[in-house]
Amino acid sequence: MPPAADPLDVLRDVFGFDSFRPGQREVIDAVLAGRDCIAVMPTGAGKSLTYQLPARILEGTVLVLSPLISLMKDQVDALQALGFRAVEINSTLDSGERQARLAALRRGAYELVFLAPEALDGRLRDFIQGCPISLLVVDEAHCISQWGHDFRPSYRRLEGLKEGLDVPVLALTATATRAVARDILHQLGMKKPAGFKGSFFRSNLLVRCRKKGSGNTRKEILALVRRRSGESGIVYCLSRRGVEQTTEFLRANGVRALSYHAGLPDDERHRNQEAFQRDDADVVVATVAFGMGIDKSNVRFVIHRDMPRDVESWYQEMGRAGRDGLESDCTLFYSWADVKLHER
Ligand code: ADP
Ligand code: MG
Repeated sequence: MPPAADPLDVLRDVFGFDSFRPGQREVIDAVLAGRDCIAVMPTGAGKSLTYQLPARILEGTVLVLSPLISLMKDQVDALQALGFRAVEINSTLDSGERQARLAALRRGAYELVFLAPEALDGRLRDFIQGCPISLLVVDEAHCISQWGHDFRPSYRRLEGLKEGLDVPVLALTATATRAVARDILHQLGMKKPAGFKGSFFRSNLLVRCRKKGSGNTRKEILALVRRRSGESGIVYCLSRRGVEQTTEFLRANGVRALSYHAGLPDDERHRNQEAFQRDDADVVVATVAFGMGIDKSNVRFVIHRDMPRDVESWYQEMGRAGRDGLESDCTLFYSWADVKLHER
């Protein structure tokens, strides 16, 4: 047998990176040693590499469960461009293509296969038990926890999966609370897991809190937006009505603002998100429905017009500012009335 590839060589030769980022090597070593592992690292830290790189080294297929079908395709395309044998299997495929991919999966033709947890109904679940899976990866693993800010019922289907496949599991998340981590370990049935927790300190975010009622909140928000005129920002509101009113006020004052909340028709919501992504709109005023799946590095400010649900949500939401590392503003407006509203 040839000697196993050195992770650093694979990092350089396959991915073209010079060195590992903090934590990546630790997680990769645990995975290659066949251990269960949980990695808690902030968004952008490079969690994907911790299963992509082992996929090149391990015999068999790395099965990646990931919540957003819309992002799967991009990920697969990027991996294929690097020379990986990677595919996604989801509801967007026609049945011929699906059958072909399943057959190839059973033959062990893939290094990586991406699935949404929704896809794990009885038949596919039984099917993958007969496939040469080397590692089960649960991306955005906090979605499994009711304590998390993004609970998804479909993640409950992952229970017992590791046991059924009899493979190690790697759980990845950017959610750092203990309750969530405990839930992940428990529900995935992880055994003596290795763990890595990265630093969550974001030195480029300038965080301020302002009490509401001491001034005119709308005008303060407008002033903050104008200070970053022509740049991208998000204004979070608790209610749809708050979103609509704030958008209207900003637009009336010449700001290129759009709304985003679950009450808008799908196509309009989608259009608004796209416009923001393409810099055709500067500001999105949104409920917390706006978040997962936004991949925009140049968000210069996040304003909370109302108090977030909890500290964890606050961290996640304001963390959408400054992904490019440049200085960005995060401003929270709070009031006792907001607390009461959350309690209700
Ligand atoms: P996360 O899932 O933790 O939010 P990603 O896995 O999407 O982060 O990685 C974020 C970015 O960092 C990607 O563009 C990826 O290519 C890059 N990246 C990951 N590891 C390294 C590395 N060792 N050196 C340079 N860039 C890296
Ligand atoms: Mg990720």
